[in-house]
Amino acid sequence: MTSMYGLRAQAHFDAAHFLTDYYGKCENLHGHRWEVLVTVEQAELQTEGTMRGMVLDFGVFKKAVRQVAGELDHTFLVEEGSLDATTLDLLRGKGFAMKVLPFRTTAENLARWFFGRLEAEGLPVVEVEVDETPENRAFYRA
Ligand SMILES: [Zn+2]
Repeated sequence: MTSMYGLRAQAHFDAAHFLTDYYGKCENLHGHRWEVLVTVEQAELQTEGTMRGMVLDFGVFKKAVRQVAGELDHTFLVEEGSLDATTLDLLRGKGFAMKVLPFRTTAENLARWFFGRLEAEGLPVVEVEVDETPENRAFYRA
């Protein structure tokens, strides 16, 4: 078995959403304080400079996670195509911040979205957990 070093950083964002084609409470517009827990892993620690003995700079890691979460904070997460253009324009006209995403706005899909965004920044991400509530947790793992 391979041994690994890892770090975990947590961030949260408040956002509204609703689930299309869902028959239950979640088809209605509602909000959550979404918690995001990101795990990075690396087999070897850095050997030189300011990061010697570290997987990576925790501050840089935390900042990256917070920045991506910040993009969704206090927005209305909308699945592309789930609201017609007129409704979207009306909401935007009222000054509401909308985040249109190309997937159904489930915690699972959001976990995958965070994973992709952080991986693109060069972080060695292995897992992202997104919690809608402390009882409802989803994750995406490489
Ligand atoms: Zn929900």
